[in-house]
Amino acid sequence: MSRDINNKFWDEELETLPREELEKRQLADLKEIVKFAYENAPYYKRSFDEAGVKPEDIKTLKDIQKFPFINKKTQRDTQGVGSFLGELAAVPEEDVVFISTSSGSTGVPTMSPFTKKDFDEFQDTESRWFWQIGMRPNDRYVHALNFSLYVGGPDVIGAQNLGALCIWGGTLPSERLLFVLKTYKPTVIWTSPSYAWQLGEKALKSGIDPKKDLNIKKIIVAGELGGSIDATRKAIEDIWGAEVYDFYGLSDIFGACAAMCEAKDGLHIAENHILVETIDIHTGEILEPGQVGELVFTTLRKHARPLIRFRTGDIGRIDNTKCSCGRTHGRIHILGRKDDMFIVSAVNVFPSDIEAVIREQDGITGEYLIRIFERDFTNKYAVEIEKNTDNPKTDEEVAAEVSAALKARIGVKPARVVVHPDGGLDTRSEHKSKRVIDERNLEYVI
Ligand SMILES: [Zn+2]
Repeated sequence: MSRDINNKFWDEELETLPREELEKRQLADLKEIVKFAYENAPYYKRSFDEAGVKPEDIKTLKDIQKFPFINKKTQRDTQGVGSFLGELAAVPEEDVVFISTSSGSTGVPTMSPFTKKDFDEFQDTESRWFWQIGMRPNDRYVHALNFSLYVGGPDVIGAQNLGALCIWGGTLPSERLLFVLKTYKPTVIWTSPSYAWQLGEKALKSGIDPKKDLNIKKIIVAGELGGSIDATRKAIEDIWGAEVYDFYGLSDIFGACAAMCEAKDGLHIAENHILVETIDIHTGEILEPGQVGELVFTTLRKHARPLIRFRTGDIGRIDNTKCSCGRTHGRIHILGRKDDMFIVSAVNVFPSDIEAVIREQDGITGEYLIRIFERDFTNKYAVEIEKNTDNPKTDEEVAAEVSAALKARIGVKPARVVVHPDGGLDTRSEHKSKRVIDERNLEYVI
């Protein structure tokens, strides 16, 4: 491949398209995919007919608003119906070369099929993100993500296609992974934010200083919100002496749909593949760009199973203004999962807000546990933290500080802050950490 390694863009024309031109392309693809879905996927034929809409109704991008939403439940209800791939699929099984499945953490796992072309375009997008964060063919890259069924597994091919030397790390035990980092001196790694942080701590405890003894320059994180929380990202950067970039993907679409650039101000979304809308989480009303709501995605080019107006369950906002990096594709800012949000005294609270406060505080380890419970028919939350061994303050003083910081940031105080010694919380895990426990007693609901 004769690509200029000094060019900051993977596909300069595409990444810097004037918005008008980008939207023109989106409209052409939208018309095509809605027609393709209607003609080939039994579910869309039925739901468009019931809603009284036809593919020809798409004259502008805004016309997508006439079409019905789908969600995770639509996927569950239609998969396996009529055929192995189900009623949302728009191609026969012989055209499908790959399926991934969701983790099933919120119910029955859902399956996402790809045609050869879908898969190749997915990998080209991954190469674009890797290039965007500065990966070049002379990098050594460790892909420390799960390969089993998980849509993020094959993203490593995007790095290989770019020309990097790739090490398929998967979910190696920490000791083995540290051995790889020490012996092969890779420059880039991708893992979850909580694991990146814990791996750094483990390295230090085993006598390896990631800054001096390892060669990691860039860390990609995804799968949890941490990479978009400034304090968490900085905590990881401090341990490793490396730049941290957040990526965002959906098992329903592909591995990474959006990625940070050097500006680290939101994540550029591949608008040539995804049409983004934001809606009010309660009423479904369409919001203007910049307003916070549930993100709704329409896949513009994925033919195996087009998603038309898929409610992602993720809360965030889109910023379509041009980024300082020169890219014109919009940036999404994710605040959290709709399912994780809870309401205390009429305030919407996201666990990510609490995490941001905990990670900014001095004298505590940054580990935390949130408990949501009900008292007198009202939601309350409690936070458990760990005090650093060398912190001279009393537990009461530390609790009071954290409580005040939470009140200042979120607007509502926690019912209590429990202080544990360093290592007292059982939240350090090799994979996604469980940090929120919902103890609300559902029997109160009538
Ligand atoms: Zn940018």
